[in-house]
Order: sequence, then structure tokens, then C-alpha cells
Amino acid sequence: MAILSSRYSRNNAPHVKMNGLQAQMKRQIDRKVEKGDYRFEAVPCPVCQSTTFEPIAEQDRYGLHFPVVICSDCGLVQTNPRMTQASYDEFYNVEYRRLYEGTPKPTTNSFALQYERGKQLFHNVAHLFTSPPDDYFVLEVGCGSGGVIKYFQEQGCVVKGIDLGEEYLVHGRETYGLDLTPGTLADLTLDRAPDLIIYSHVMEHILDPGAELAQVHQHLAPNGLLSIEVPGVRFVQHAYNGDFLRMLQNAHTYHFTLQSLTNLLQAHGFRRLLGDEVVRAVFTPAGSGAQSETLVNEMDSISAFLHDVECEYMLLAGLSQMRAEAYPQAAMIFSQLTEIAPADTYAYGCFAQALRRMGRGDDAQRIEQMISQVYA
Ligand SMILES: [Zn+2]
Repeated sequence: MAILSSRYSRNNAPHVKMNGLQAQMKRQIDRKVEKGDYRFEAVPCPVCQSTTFEPIAEQDRYGLHFPVVICSDCGLVQTNPRMTQASYDEFYNVEYRRLYEGTPKPTTNSFALQYERGKQLFHNVAHLFTSPPDDYFVLEVGCGSGGVIKYFQEQGCVVKGIDLGEEYLVHGRETYGLDLTPGTLADLTLDRAPDLIIYSHVMEHILDPGAELAQVHQHLAPNGLLSIEVPGVRFVQHAYNGDFLRMLQNAHTYHFTLQSLTNLLQAHGFRRLLGDEVVRAVFTPAGSGAQSETLVNEMDSISAFLHDVECEYMLLAGLSQMRAEAYPQAAMIFSQLTEIAPADTYAYGCFAQALRRMGRGDDAQRIEQMISQVYA
């Protein structure tokens, strides 16, 4: 097992378009990493405590230093060694929003996106409610300006949000009148236990998910719900243009599949009620005396999956550069690479399918005509 492909070796070059502010932030982070202002630490796997990992990437989509590995004993894809808490604290205060959003200020657009996510989340989880939404107290951790809980509030829930980014909290409080306070779950004293705690695109940023989940156990109402959304590694073909490198961003310390997220939650006393590979999942405390579920090691299947995704990405990227006149030869090479007998109609058919997947239906048709002429 090695780095997925040469695109993942460290060459410092960004893989995505960046505006001036983003490029400036990248240079600033590169300098801090080089000078040792941003420090990295190796940690055991948070699911199975293993210290045996296989490397798959050295940099993220911005070309930042970003070692990504797979745990050999459970298959969790993670950043390791990763930045220390102190380094991440500074990164979130100084560079994070500017690097990711290319703008220093919260925008109406980011609130609208959160609100849309809140609507989907509500309809994903509300059928698990055991009483009307009016009876529900919903707490969101990492709420930004509160777009997600705004939708829950409109459905009748009592809502509260916490986050570390003061700028965004002020925006949500002043513009939408939401109850948003700075801090983490560990800092929080509540006079009512939340019936639902939401982590929407937050868990992949948390350095010590075990400690965080212990806090959830302390706060959550008995039989309460825990909703977790994270970007799903197995969903990469439907997002990020099927490009896993695009999914890698230095703020993410974990890169989950539904299975690896479930492994993590089971290891910390929760059981899954529902979930998909997007990933959108809902958990509840497993309860004392519950049978502990067996951990499923995803190492082999996730490695094979990521290598397949990379092959397909490279194939499509190569094809998109190609002139139609070169297709017959490309189809020949394709058939050899895929170990389908050269000049076999099946090989050409697969090649045509690949063209169709990248939206080149006319070219696919030309290949198919070629097949029918040659093999008439
Ligand atoms: Zn592990």
C-alpha cells in the first residue's frame, strides 16, 4: 500500500483554484509549518488505539502539508501526524474561514446553505421524535451563524447553538435573533438536557472525538438523539467531482465512511439508528449493559475503493484531454490496462461507457459505430 498516486505526493502546488486572499493564507500556513510554528503530533487511532497505519497522501487540495493514513486495524482514514490543538486553535482563529471561503466575513450565502442543510436534517431525523417538535430542545455544536437550527426553531423546537468562531455567532444573534454562545460542550452548563444534539460537518474537525463523545453522554437526555453529518469518503464519486484529493482539506483530521463513523460511535457507547454514505447518521446511547458491537475492519475494502476511485479519476482526466482521432488507439491501451483482450468489442464498450460518464455522449456513440463497422 502506498500513496494513492503522484498527485498526492508533496509538491506544494494547489489542486483547486484560489483567490488572492486564499493564496495569501496558504503561503502563511506553509511558512508556519516550515518554521515549526504549526506543530504536528502522532496519535493512536481514536477507534481502536492502534498505532499501525498505511500512508495514502502527503498533501491536501491546497498543496498544504497533510499526511493522511489508513488505520491497519480498523480502516479509519485519518490525518496523522496531525496539528496539535494549540496550532489548530491559531489556524481556526487566523486562517480557516479566509482559506476555505475566500472571504474574511460571514456571508448571507453561507447562512442560506446552512439553513438548507437544516431543512434536510430535520426531515431526516424528525420521524425518530417521540413527541411533537415543540417538546424538543435541540443543541447544535459548531453552529456557525446558526442556519441549521434556525430551521428547527421554525418547526417549533427550542434551539441553542455553540461555536468557537465569535464573528459568526454575532452574525446569527444580531441578524436572526438566535440563542448562540461561544464555547465547547465541555464549557457548557444547561438547565435542560438536550433531546437532540447536532454535529453538522464538525466531527471531522475534532481532534479527540472520544473526549467529545464523553461530553455528549453527560449532556444528552436519556434516550436522546445524536445527529452527525460528515463528508463521506464513499460518496466521493457523487461529490468533489469524484476526486478524493479535492476532499482532502487540512482542517479535517478524520475522513469517515458510514462504517468507520459507526465503529467510532460504538467504541464510545452509542448505537446507530440510521445512516447513509453521504454521511448522515443518527445515534443514541447504547445504554448500560448493552452488548458491545464488534468492530468491522474496513482497511482492505476502503484501500481498494480509494485506488479504484483514483484510477477512474485519472482515466477520465486523461480522456478529457484527448482528440477523437486518437480514440481507437486509446481504446486499445484501455483494453490492455484493464486486461480485457485487446480489440475486443467488450473493451471498446467499456471505453464508450467511460466517455459517456464524462458527458461525452457523441464521442461514445462514435466509438460504438466503430465497433459495429469493425465487427459487422
Ligand atoms: Zn483504528
